[in-house]
Amino acid sequence: MSTVNAIAAVSATEPLVRTTVERRDVGPRDILIEIRYAGICHSDIHTMRGEWGEITYPLTVGHEIVGRVAEVGGEVTRHAVGDRVGVGCMVNSCRECRNCRAGQEQYCENGNTGTYASVDRDGTITQGGYSTHVVVDEDFVLRVPEAIPYEAAAPLLCAGITTYSPLAHWKAGPGTKVAVVGMGGLGHMAVKLAVAMGADVTVLSQTLGKKDDGLAFGAGNYHATRDEATFEALRNSFDLIINTVSAPIDMADYLGLLRLDGTLVSVGAPPEPLAVPVFALFGNRRSFAGSGIGSIAETQEMLDFCAERGIAPEVEMITADQVNEAYERVLKSDVRYRFVIDIDSLR
Ligand code: NAP
Ligand code: ZN
Ligand code: ZN
Repeated sequence: MSTVNAIAAVSATEPLVRTTVERRDVGPRDILIEIRYAGICHSDIHTMRGEWGEITYPLTVGHEIVGRVAEVGGEVTRHAVGDRVGVGCMVNSCRECRNCRAGQEQYCENGNTGTYASVDRDGTITQGGYSTHVVVDEDFVLRVPEAIPYEAAAPLLCAGITTYSPLAHWKAGPGTKVAVVGMGGLGHMAVKLAVAMGADVTVLSQTLGKKDDGLAFGAGNYHATRDEATFEALRNSFDLIINTVSAPIDMADYLGLLRLDGTLVSVGAPPEPLAVPVFALFGNRRSFAGSGIGSIAETQEMLDFCAERGIAPEVEMITADQVNEAYERVLKSDVRYRFVIDIDSLR
């Protein structure tokens, strides 16, 4: 066991503080990663504030992790010391259930082991990436291509895969019209990825404040959702809507924007239920769906896609001491478009 520097939440309401966490010894199939960058996902905030249910404090969050392999166990074959690697939202799964055997371990029927706030195999609570080192089973460690800028790679491990997976599953591509609701961390990646897949992309943001950015990311259209006229003008328009909003939205308004057989996929995870009026689904035979991160294989596919196509998140680099301030800005939708902690500031 080793003790490493970290930042942790000590309660739902207090600021995060500097502390240490324990990392297990490197087992035969484990990899010790020296973390270099960690992204701040809105899920970190929902979790540490107890909005998704009770958690055990202190807790170190963070599931957008990149760094270098510092040590490997004797049976490790996939990664070598010095490799640039990443870890996303999960660090294990049962490997035996139907979904695990089908390569969909994010949907493990026994529950995947989250990178933080999950009960690990040894009974301890997993601690996330706002820390200098982490030990992870090699099967849950991703290869981060050198073509992706190091500082910008971390957000791909959650924001990237969480938007890539539904875009791929619902076949965003040439000839499809996709709307992205909310242009924060996940939303701006949804725009870039859907554009790269060849879809015609519209951003639905609260205001027009980030319109120039949205168009620069490749969106063809950009509308303000605080303007009621938007919902009239865009009725029956989209094949696919990716909702990335961290708070409840009016489902009738947004479902009305789907054309025949269109689907609204929620990846946003507000603590409160989203009220779906069924009559809004009858018209145009619409579907309402959810999607959770992506598999390890699909995450690797997404990283390779981003490297090939020159896609990277827009990041604002911060030090460990600026995390509380960054949380406040995320909560005010004042993020352009992902905060990334420079973990050297924790050493
Ligand atoms: P974020 O950076 O805070 O982005 C959320 C965006 O939603 C904001 O930038 C804002 O966009 C919009 N928004 C926020 N509050 C709103 C409100 N009251 N009404 C309307 N729009 C509002 O958060 P994120 O890190 O992208 O995460 C987004 C959500 O996805 C979170 O709930 C997170 O927990 C969830 N998530 C789910 C998965 C999954 O596997 N399904 C994975 C990761 C994250 P505009 O300023 O453009 O309006
Ligand atoms: Zn996340
Ligand atoms: Zn399983």
